[in-house]
Amino acid sequence: MDVFHSHPGWIEVITGSMFSGKSEELIRRLRRAQIARQRVQIFKPIVDGRYSHEHIVSHSDMRIDAELVENASEILEKLNHRTEVIGVDEGQFFDTTLVEVSNQLANAGKRVIIAGLDTDFLGNPFEPMPQLLAVAEYITKTLAICMRCGSPANQTQRLVASKDRVVVGGAGSYEARCRRCFEPEVEEDQKRDEIVERLKKPRSAS
Ligand code: ZN
Repeated sequence: MDVFHSHPGWIEVITGSMFSGKSEELIRRLRRAQIARQRVQIFKPIVDGRYSHEHIVSHSDMRIDAELVENASEILEKLNHRTEVIGVDEGQFFDTTLVEVSNQLANAGKRVIIAGLDTDFLGNPFEPMPQLLAVAEYITKTLAICMRCGSPANQTQRLVASKDRVVVGGAGSYEARCRRCFEPEVEEDQKRDEIVERLKKPRSAS
């Protein structure tokens, strides 16, 4: 990596809920760079085996070739020194090392574009995205449309019961919701309702 590059680079962050078009926007920007014959490398974390192992795929099935990495440090290992634009998808699945790596790349004159979820299924900031927002030069907040009421949606509603922060899934497991329709505690409520229903039911003859 040429640390003494003549031009400084910068960091762009594309963030928002699921179904807000983050990956589409990332792919669009990377394609523009490719059309301008800039050297582009794209990375995504191995944890997301959702659709494809060698592509970044948006929910609408736009795709672009990507390299899989175990962690953020591997981005530096796999980096070609001639690469000018670095794209990272699913930024929320990396640890805070991604912040250091992004700064290092931007300091070395690279354009770094990171897409990722800004909040988890409880509505809490999803590290390292908040830290990346703080150091980024450009921030794009993408909004989805609430699948219940049609308002602008900034939250990711989990529809399957799990306490794990990372549950990989697309449509069916998650929904975009506005702040009014977002129910982070829905799993607990549902479980309680189910138990109450069961207790109310008369015992069957069997
Ligand atoms: Zn709503």
